[in-house]
Amino acid sequence: MAVSQINFARIDADVLLVGGGHAHVAVLADWIRRGVPQGARAVLLTPDPALRYSGMVPGWLAGQHEIGDGLVDLVGLAARAGVELVLDRCAALDPEARRVKTAGGQEIAFNIASFDTGGEGRGAALLGKDPRIVDVRPIGAFVERLAGLRASRQGLPRVVIAGGGAGGVELAFGLRNLAGAAPRPQVTLATGTSGLLLGFADVVRRRVAKALARQGIAVLEAEAAFERGTPVAGGQWLEPVDLIIAATGSAAPGWGRASGLETDAEGFIAVDAHQRSVSHPHIFAAGDVAARLDRALPHSGVHAVFAGPVLAANLRSVVGGDVPQATYHPRRHSLYILNTGDGSAIASYGPFSAEGRWVLALKHRIDKAWIAQYAGLAAKQ
Ligand SMILES: Cc1cc2nc3c(=O)[nH]c(=O)nc-3n(C[C@H](O)[C@H](O)[C@H](O)COP(=O)(O)OP(=O)(O)OC[C@H]3O[C@@H](n4cnc5c(N)ncnc54)[C@H](O)[C@@H]3O)c2cc1C
Repeated sequence: MAVSQINFARIDADVLLVGGGHAHVAVLADWIRRGVPQGARAVLLTPDPALRYSGMVPGWLAGQHEIGDGLVDLVGLAARAGVELVLDRCAALDPEARRVKTAGGQEIAFNIASFDTGGEGRGAALLGKDPRIVDVRPIGAFVERLAGLRASRQGLPRVVIAGGGAGGVELAFGLRNLAGAAPRPQVTLATGTSGLLLGFADVVRRRVAKALARQGIAVLEAEAAFERGTPVAGGQWLEPVDLIIAATGSAAPGWGRASGLETDAEGFIAVDAHQRSVSHPHIFAAGDVAARLDRALPHSGVHAVFAGPVLAANLRSVVGGDVPQATYHPRRHSLYILNTGDGSAIASYGPFSAEGRWVLALKHRIDKAWIAQYAGLAAKQ
């Protein structure tokens, strides 16, 4: 395995994985266990040496995890799988010529490519460019910025979170319970006009609303915005504010639509149940960067994780010259566990909900098991 420095010689890959995301780590795991299909030359293009597991970030804020917990070692996984690693990001794709261009100017040619790059932050587009705005995407940069602010003398006394989805809610709880902060940060959650946890069962929304109120987190059912340099929501001034976190969902990366690949209306790569591009059969995609055309599927980590083994099976088939056979059929409901930062958590599974310290213990067990399987594989001799 070689970690490429930028040199401008073209790399020729049989199989190119773009993005070390939650689905591609399952592909790397399959290749570690069973070998790269057909002994193909495989390359992973991704900017960072580790994948940060977002589900453990709220727990890190609340002091339940160390900053180094919740990282998947992409360098180790690529090395064990016999995959060349290029630490750079995809900046352009030509699916007809079967090439990507990296931000650093490197060209990578491929026969088959798979994309799992996640989405991009929408904070700047929705809120503007105030220096107090920090986007949750990319999550690695978000964690570094918050770690820096936590360590600074200023701390994080007054925080606004824009976005009432699961990520925004968990970050509100995590920041209200920020480890080592005295006094506790004042936290306002601006959910947007769709309110708290759109798409979740009423019982979950009620439980979360109660927990937010109990912890003194202000909730505004309005869009956060900037008016003449001042953050507002629903006609209310939000100043003074030290930090505005944009947890407003992910946007599609521009290179997807610009490439001529078929996308959905928002620019996410359109795929079928095999995670295969509907326009270019030698291209696959999974996770937040992909959009299933045959059914509506929210962009969330759980679908990236469960699509991973399907993607691995189909890449193995197509590299071997067969048609993809495996399909991803999401379960009717997905389990979401929202960490409330105070030692407890709220679970949501379709119409069912539960709350308590045991729910948080279950979340920690699931998260740590997911991380441990990859740590074990990355360390394997
Ligand atoms: C605070 C928070 C908590 C969350 N909690 C949960 C949860 O509990 N459960 C859940 O299901 N979802 C959760 N989510 C949503 C979840 O984070 C995403 O849906 C998930 O990360 C998507 O996985 P992915 O593999 O598509 O992309 P990512 O996890 O974003 O991985 C993308 C990878 O691609 C790399 N990359 C990015 N751009 C490029 C490029 N141009 N070229 C090459 N590589 C690139 C990145 O460095 C990264 O390694 C949460 C989100 C947030 C913000």
